[in-house]
Amino acid sequence: MDFGVRGRTAIVCAASMGLGRSCAAALGAEGVNLVIVARRRELLESAAVEIQSATGAEIVAVVADVTTREGRDAILGACPDPDILINNAGGPPPGDFRNWDRDTWIKALDANMLAPIELMKSTIDGMIARKFGRIVNITSHAVKAPVAMLGLSNGARSGLTGFVAGLARATAEHNVTINNLLPGTFDTDRLKSNLQALATNIKRSVEEVTRDIQSSNPSRRFGRPEEFGAACAFLCSAHAGYITGQNILMEGGAYPGTF
Ligand code: NAP
Repeated sequence: MDFGVRGRTAIVCAASMGLGRSCAAALGAEGVNLVIVARRRELLESAAVEIQSATGAEIVAVVADVTTREGRDAILGACPDPDILINNAGGPPPGDFRNWDRDTWIKALDANMLAPIELMKSTIDGMIARKFGRIVNITSHAVKAPVAMLGLSNGARSGLTGFVAGLARATAEHNVTINNLLPGTFDTDRLKSNLQALATNIKRSVEEVTRDIQSSNPSRRFGRPEEFGAACAFLCSAHAGYITGQNILMEGGAYPGTF
């Protein structure tokens, strides 16, 4: 299937590794011009070279922290009028809420709620004027099924989800869609550090924890980042204009509900 987005331009945040990188690679394979963002220059530049050589996409790498105004200005300076925006940032640390002060909460809100809202605010009117826009926010399965030790993530991402639910209905008539993709356990560095934290917490080995989580998932495995990228690219395709305001779980069937 041709996704119908060749020649369009995407900002992909937090894209030097993991899920963001897979989204960039999948969009690049569809002929989308990419502006990819992360804080560490070396990793970002090598991701740009690898995605470029695998897909032939035109890529600009912007070293920036999406949680800061300066970072967002740098991203928008490189790409003021994107057709596609993929919002992503690192997830907040696990822990016990008794140990979190106001600054800890503000950091989580900046990364996983306010930065995406600011980037939508800066780009959405241009999308509306051009009658095409696709926004995908990478959130978490924790929005649907909270994880106790990821309280910062449960809280901050739920705030973004509630906001998007309203905004998405106001932009659909202009062919501007906003959806959230909710990853479960995808095999990325972030997952490895969460598994390590969990293993330490419950005093078991990482191998045991990994085996237990995989065997309790209906698909008996972790997700592959390229599967996530492919779903993201479809949501950004010309064919997905009637899908908006959705929270799409990608977690191998782990959530037990019918809906
Ligand atoms: P990852 O493998 O750790 O990759 C994170 C990427 O984000 C890196 O490229 C990192 O590069 C970049 N980044 C982090 N903070 C940034 C910032 N402030 N500004 C710009 N770039 C930033 O993580 P992942 O597994 O792909 O996860 C992506 C998101 O999905 C996270 O929010 C995570 O919590 C969430 N999630 C993941 C899973 C999973 O199973 N993997 C499950 C649920 C939710 P730099 O560090 O160089 O900036």
